[in-house]
Amino acid sequence: MYPSPVELAQGFSSLANEHVSSLSPHLAAAGAVGLIALQAFACLLVADFLSGLTHWAIDTYGRPDAPITGPLLTQPNIEHHTHPRALLRYSWADAMLMPISAAAIIINASWALGFWHWTIALTCVLAAFANQVHRWAHRSRTENGRVIVFLQQARIIQSPAQHAQHHRGTHDRGYCALSPWVNPIVDTLGLWRALEWLLQHLFNLRRRPDTPDSDHAPHDAHAHADRRKPPQFRTISS
Ligand SMILES: [Zn+2]
Ligand SMILES: [Zn+2]
Repeated sequence: MYPSPVELAQGFSSLANEHVSSLSPHLAAAGAVGLIALQAFACLLVADFLSGLTHWAIDTYGRPDAPITGPLLTQPNIEHHTHPRALLRYSWADAMLMPISAAAIIINASWALGFWHWTIALTCVLAAFANQVHRWAHRSRTENGRVIVFLQQARIIQSPAQHAQHHRGTHDRGYCALSPWVNPIVDTLGLWRALEWLLQHLFNLRRRPDTPDSDHAPHDAHAHADRRKPPQFRTISS
């Protein structure tokens, strides 16, 4: 006795349901992992943008003679523009103390105020890490070693060639220092110029005059840099 078409359809349907229900835990797990990966990538982009926003604010409006921010932030940034490799003279602890402290304060504050989330913590940690990626961008391949060079070439972190865009001309682009993805977006959109226009019209804030980059002569040297061989910043005399 052959099954009727209805019985066949019911048989296929129950088989399909069994198959889907056996797969669903795996699909749910894959979906959860994908969502976490997506959130982590979003944290990376936000952290990179925050690093750029801070850098832009210091470069644009920081005053070297201001009481606290002058010696802490603006003077080192001006020195970095005139002598890019000078930042390597600072120890890792000196360079990372401020960003790690800022990250720790925000993470603790978010915990104390009851809105802690792992994405906030990860964003803060990555934003602090941008300072280290920036230092690597000013070191030679030999100084960085294979692992860091691989991360730079694989576009996992920002490379010296990408960061060199900030050190060309008037230091008014390429503020983000962590990844290779955020700078092209914000620079193409003209976000920094739009913010400057807005702040000038709202509060009469004007850009601080740029300080020329005395370690790079001519600036256009980076424009012709070999993509396979990131430009090397000259070491200042120590
Ligand atoms: Zn700068
Ligand atoms: Zn730099």
